[in-house]
Amino acid sequence: MTDFTPAGCVLPHPEFHRHILVSGGEVLCSSQGPLHLSLPVHIFTEQGAIEPGASCSHYLGEWCGEPCGVHHLPIRVEVPGCEWLGLRSLLGSVPEPLFFLVGRALQVVNWDLDHRFCGRCGRQTEYHPRDRARVCGHCSLVVYPRISPCVIMLVTRGDQCLLARHTRHRHALYTALAGFIEPGENAEQALAREVREEVGLETGAVRYVGSQSWPFPGQLMIGYLAEATGGALTPDQEEISEARWFHRSEIPEAIPPVETLSGQLIRTFIDKG
Ligand SMILES: [Zn+2]
Repeated sequence: MTDFTPAGCVLPHPEFHRHILVSGGEVLCSSQGPLHLSLPVHIFTEQGAIEPGASCSHYLGEWCGEPCGVHHLPIRVEVPGCEWLGLRSLLGSVPEPLFFLVGRALQVVNWDLDHRFCGRCGRQTEYHPRDRARVCGHCSLVVYPRISPCVIMLVTRGDQCLLARHTRHRHALYTALAGFIEPGENAEQALAREVREEVGLETGAVRYVGSQSWPFPGQLMIGYLAEATGGALTPDQEEISEARWFHRSEIPEAIPPVETLSGQLIRTFIDKG
């Protein structure tokens, strides 16, 4: 069984029974995967230059009932029998809860490393006494791990849905449209704006399908089916190189995997018919 129960900040953190090691944006994986039953302490001592105090450790939650934490290594060391892997390479190759646990680990470490100094006054920050936050003692700025909300929407028209290819992807999949929510917008306003900007269509009724953490590097994807109500299909060519209507029985094979919310939106639409 694989199961992860996220926890908020607990200080001092409990003793970890499962360990994730992160360095340089990658995670240490053995043949058993990215979760280690014991901390390979030798990597702190044998290399000499690495002190345990030079890294940070954070409690993430419980993996199958066992406290699980992440440790950041400031210098990446080679560990026999292990390799350092990027998060993308784990997508689809480890169980989904484990993928999101590692994503959480990387995001928490990134937040910690990115906010050692105050972005407002430049002084050193400290950990908040209770919350997962860093605080500037000089100007009182408090920085929590940042999540960026995005909408992702499959535009539909009867038995057809609109699939797009993005200019930035070399091996372009046909996928749903997506975009960041701007300050002051709600999710539905962002959806309507993004569809209008990217493909020139107007949308009406929307149906919420689900949400998903997307740790590349810290998005929360909020997924919808959205009915097209008008406009002329005109891909913007900056972000979208091609956008086409597909009947639900003729969806191309090159769509995102089911682990992604985009893949789930497309499959939800196919199954509805
Ligand atoms: Zn400050």
